[in-house]
Amino acid sequence: MHRDTRAEIDLAAIRHNVRAIRGALPTGAEFMAVVKADGYGHGDLAVAEAAIQGGADSLAVAYLSEALRLRRGGIRHPILVLTPIQPRELPLAVEQDLMLTVASAEWMAEARVYKNPYTLPKIKVHVKLDTGLGRLGIRGREEWEALVPWLAKRDVVVEGAYTHFATAGQADTAYLEAQRLRFREMLGWIADSGIVPRRCHCANSAAALRFPALAMDMVRIGAAMYGFCDRRWQPGVELTPALRLSSRLLQTKQVEKGAYIGYDNAYRAEESEWIGTVPIGYADGWSQGLRGSELLVGGERAPIVGKIGMDQLMVRLPRAYPAGTPVTLIGEEGEERITCAELAARLESVPQEISTALSARVERVYL
Ligand code: PLP
Repeated sequence: MHRDTRAEIDLAAIRHNVRAIRGALPTGAEFMAVVKADGYGHGDLAVAEAAIQGGADSLAVAYLSEALRLRRGGIRHPILVLTPIQPRELPLAVEQDLMLTVASAEWMAEARVYKNPYTLPKIKVHVKLDTGLGRLGIRGREEWEALVPWLAKRDVVVEGAYTHFATAGQADTAYLEAQRLRFREMLGWIADSGIVPRRCHCANSAAALRFPALAMDMVRIGAAMYGFCDRRWQPGVELTPALRLSSRLLQTKQVEKGAYIGYDNAYRAEESEWIGTVPIGYADGWSQGLRGSELLVGGERAPIVGKIGMDQLMVRLPRAYPAGTPVTLIGEEGEERITCAELAARLESVPQEISTALSARVERVYL
């Protein structure tokens, strides 16, 4: 431990959350734990292991490099790579027994060039259907028909067919419903072609918790597993945030009224104030956009004042505190709690932007 600023990851919370989410879903729905972006900033291997202990059946990551990290770390469970990999990487992915996302016939045609069709093992794929997110996947019937011959080949296993919702967390559910209907229609095309995906899936955290019937054969859960969840989605499911971020005051001082604090004189003391310096900055992922947000000192809220620097920020203390006093940037202290959701609101973003932004310089400590 060379630094006071550290992220504590509560792996028991991850295990608990997986069990709690499972308990709220129809029995039989598989649980795919989404551990992309270094487990939403919590640490991919540690989270993957905890999720498996909690009952997850499989894992998902965004990129091949992330899947390879899990395999190198000893994870043997099924892994789905959500973003199409570079076609030339197909042999490596197959050798590592990864499930790949197919979003077009062109990709499949190109990727196959790199694999000898007569050698085992098979190419495991999940077909991605774009039902309205406008990001990746088959959109029209012709595109689907062009893919069918590739999927029908003997060395291809269609492990799944899936889509992703654009508005699963929004109050207005009209677009979600339109996507659901489009998904059903597209699954009809698949059935007409005689292709039988092993599982159909569409629900992320918000969709699965709000509408358990959307769980279908499998859910892909990220946010809720880390304890990021709007309680209105499923009041009955108690989720525990797994991430706590803490530090200590590096230096404190009483400044006179009118004193400037931080770069560009962006803050000026309104009266005689106690100011503390905290060793975290934008290079740790504490974005300048979080200026004006609060942290906890002695169980009380204290606002960040002035511009956030690369390595430090300044905070207006409610009273005199000595250097070395613990501070909480994310988590509970006394009666108060600061969540990633609260911080994200300041950035007009989602909690996972806060946790994934925490850079490698912030040491992760596992509880
Ligand atoms: N499925 C896909 C395709 C995703 O991209 C993501 C994350 O963005 C997830 C599932 C998990 O979503 P959430 O974190 O909202 O549960």
